[in-house]
Amino acid sequence: MASFKRILLKLSGEAAMGDQSFGIDPPTVARVAGEVKAAKDAGHEICLVIGGGNIFRGMAGAAKGMNRTTADYMGMLATVMNALAMQDALEAIGVSTRVQSAVEMNKVCEPVILRRAERHLEKGRVVIFAAGVGDPYFTTDSGAALRASEMKCDALLKGTSVDGVYDSDPKTNPAATRFDRIGYDRVLADNLKVMDAAAVSLCRDNNIPIVVFNIREPGNLARVLAGEGVSTTVGAIEEGQAHG
Ligand code: UDP
Repeated sequence: MASFKRILLKLSGEAAMGDQSFGIDPPTVARVAGEVKAAKDAGHEICLVIGGGNIFRGMAGAAKGMNRTTADYMGMLATVMNALAMQDALEAIGVSTRVQSAVEMNKVCEPVILRRAERHLEKGRVVIFAAGVGDPYFTTDSGAALRASEMKCDALLKGTSVDGVYDSDPKTNPAATRFDRIGYDRVLADNLKVMDAAAVSLCRDNNIPIVVFNIREPGNLARVLAGEGVSTTVGAIEEGQAHG
């Protein structure tokens, strides 16, 4: 794998949940923070986006009768809570951080100011972007693709609970095969579950590779960044080589 100097790491809110079925599990957040520190110590510049699904998803609220826009703002606030939990865990192990939220809340964190974010990275800080794109009807996947584009990241790393992109769901189909590399267009055409379509097409338009890997496996982020771990890269060229 090409060496990626500046990365955007996207974690779903569930990565903060551990074995719980809801909310934030501080030991789990601390473990993930350790992964981020290892990547930073290896010389990478790191932007972070964390979802909010462990606390609240707008669609779920809307399905139970809430106004969708209100519910989505609640989801965005959930991502701010996760961002603060991650900031706390990173600072506890000596990693300097800043949180920038797309929904402004000055007492809690900075607003999104890209030039300032750039400066934070130069100074070796991890920048955590919260509240997605700051508007309802979007997801934090889209927020991640947007910030990765704006910050000119070399790659978007998507940490999930599976070790890459499969041609069918490996949890239900034992014969599912994993791709080493796959094209953006194939992911969109086959509706493969990588990120939502808006996020994938934004990465495609800005030629940002998406690296899908398992964040639950200890040490995996640093391994994948060193080109050693198991992952799938979604990129411009389709070399769709599948492995069992
Ligand atoms: N959200 C939003 N706009 C954004 C990002 C997030 O409205 O730009 C809301 C939306 O309701 C979403 C929730 O925040 O369901 C949590 O984000 P997401 O579902 O992306 O979290 P994840 O699945 O990654 O944990």
